[in-house]
Amino acid sequence: MFTATAITLIPEAWPGPLGASIIGRARAEGLWALETVDLRGFGLGKHRKVDDTPAGGGAGLVIRPDVAAAALDSVPRDGRPRIYLSPRGPRFDQNMARDWAAGPGVVLFCGRFEGLDERVIEARGLQEVSLGDFVLAGGDVAAMAMLEAAVRLLPGVAGNSASLTGESFETGLLEHPQFTLPRVWEDRPTPEVLLSGDHKRIEEWRLSRSKALTFDRRPDLYAAYSETPTPTAPETGDEPD
Ligand code: SAH
Repeated sequence: MFTATAITLIPEAWPGPLGASIIGRARAEGLWALETVDLRGFGLGKHRKVDDTPAGGGAGLVIRPDVAAAALDSVPRDGRPRIYLSPRGPRFDQNMARDWAAGPGVVLFCGRFEGLDERVIEARGLQEVSLGDFVLAGGDVAAMAMLEAAVRLLPGVAGNSASLTGESFETGLLEHPQFTLPRVWEDRPTPEVLLSGDHKRIEEWRLSRSKALTFDRRPDLYAAYSETPTPTAPETGDEPD
């Protein structure tokens, strides 16, 4: 079973949103497992100290390597990748979510303060992964976001696996716009083609909207999709054939 172990200074923040909705239900059904390891429990002395001032001076506190290693070493080595949530890592994306979901799970070290002593990152072979180009106060929210992306891809978690296949990034494109009832809302009608019942036309419309949207908003994704360095504007699908 896919198992996530989060090493954290705020175990009370877990499972957070991962305890709700489809992700929480899947956990209750035993489709994945989550455990937290309280880093404070490995702290030193009466005050369970986990951090100290940066060598060389400067602001803030750095998590000690001996304390971090003791917490990491308390988790059995079972082949799961060991991740350090860090703005310095490669950015998490749907491909990584898919890789994680295909494996046995992950061990996630959630940093705090100014981060982790470099030596433990090296000595324990931690893989740094970032949620994006911004700085959070800790790794927990990043770890939860990444787990949510991976767990919803596990078999049986998202009710209808077909609902995963056309999604943004899965095809290399952003998803087409979605509509539901009512058919007219504030004078805005649902596109006629979606009410036509003609599945071939609907698929063509969706793909053309997907391409147009990706071209506009994410030229980088569109270029990779079309495999041309300078892609030409896609057909919008509005013109007659
Ligand atoms: N001084 C560090 C930032 C520390 S932020 C630097 O400039 O690189 C404190 C902790 O929050 C980090 O140890 C990391 O675990 C987490 N964190 C912050 N931003 C993150 C991001 N974009 N992705 C993943 N984790 C992040």
